[in-house]
Amino acid sequence: MRVILASASPRRAEILARVTWPFDVLPAAIDERRLGDEDPETHVRRLAREKAIRLSRAHPEAWVLGSDTVVAQGDDIFGKPADDADALRMLSRLDAAPHLVLTGFAWARGGEAVVHDLSRSEVRFRKIGEREIRAYVATGEPRDKAGAYAIQGGAARFVDSVRGSVSGVIGLPLEGVLESARRLGISEPVSPLPPEAVALRLRAVRGEVAARTVAAGRPPESCRLVAVTKGHPAALAHAAIAAGATDVGENYVQEGARKRAEVAALSNADAARWHLIGPLQTNKAALAVRTFDLVHAIDRVEVAAALAKRASGPVAGLLQVNVARDPSKAGVPPDDVLAHVRRLADVPGFEPRGLMTIGPLDADAAATRGTFAALRQQVDELRGMGYERLTELSMGMSDDYPEAIAEGATLVRLGTAIFGPRVRPVGDRR
Ligand SMILES: *Cc1c(COP(=O)(O)O)cnc(C)c1O
Repeated sequence: MRVILASASPRRAEILARVTWPFDVLPAAIDERRLGDEDPETHVRRLAREKAIRLSRAHPEAWVLGSDTVVAQGDDIFGKPADDADALRMLSRLDAAPHLVLTGFAWARGGEAVVHDLSRSEVRFRKIGEREIRAYVATGEPRDKAGAYAIQGGAARFVDSVRGSVSGVIGLPLEGVLESARRLGISEPVSPLPPEAVALRLRAVRGEVAARTVAAGRPPESCRLVAVTKGHPAALAHAAIAAGATDVGENYVQEGARKRAEVAALSNADAARWHLIGPLQTNKAALAVRTFDLVHAIDRVEVAAALAKRASGPVAGLLQVNVARDPSKAGVPPDDVLAHVRRLADVPGFEPRGLMTIGPLDADAAATRGTFAALRQQVDELRGMGYERLTELSMGMSDDYPEAIAEGATLVRLGTAIFGPRVRPVGDRR
């Protein structure tokens, strides 16, 4: 079965790649002008349908997904701006009042639209003002975006609230697309991911991490994305690094060492920093120092000492903190952090660089944020006491990285969000 995305928008391809059907991208050239009496919803539904039908006629055997997005205020439609002045005009109006982002989509086969639907999201800007709007327009980002902004880009900081589908606002309402595909019997997305999909997903996730970092009032590069490859083949780690991943994370020393060697055989292992994010036993210290650039989950001074003893140069590591004192989790309790940092700083050849934690499971967003806020407070206090080199906060995984970034994470460790579900169960150490 072949799936074709009838769209020239790289954002749509990035979103569709998250569900990992192998698909082809073929833009559909249609007349996008609004008909005289068409309201915005009818208009966007029609364009999505026409795009799908247009390509479906040429590829009747395939499932073709067409989509179109407009920004609407009342009866007015904001498409792509004609020029920078037009972008400035649009953004000023969007700043003044809430607007709807309408994304239509349609599945077509055999030259006919089989399903079409619409996602409707309400977006409010906080009052941004003309100066900030001008600065944003000058970045060039608004030029090819409906409504002159990209919520996943520099405009993330303008947004006060979104009610509806976030992926719909970016350009493809993934929930609706998946639901309709299931109803039509379009086969399930594949796992493991094809390497081509990794590049798209990595870019999408990286854009989101950067947008959230900016929204938290920090420079975008102040939070790094560690692509967690545990449970995935070396080919996917290789694909991620080829697509620009600068940091790769593994949980187990042997799996990481083997994978790094396999990726090296494919050429680019050293283009990334390798992170050990899982627990470490002292008897694996020698292999760990040869394989990894940063060890995240140190919870005993003996482990740091074993690493330093086997290394030829300085070894960097993070102290794992069990913020919520969860008995099923590793890490030192919050009250013991200062004592551990003191002792770690005294280990010759070892450089403590910061703190790491794993967020609570099944907690609500507020409780999760509280955990991450507590870790940040600890690192701030330590820095205030003269441990200025403790600059890293490793926190946030696929389920909770938005909260972690909001609380100051400098390293987020993301596996599933980039590579999809793990094929091999976690904990299988082979
Ligand atoms: C597996 C793992 C991750 C990645 O988890 P995802 O939910 O797949 O993003 C991050 N940190 C640690 C410590 C892990 O064990």
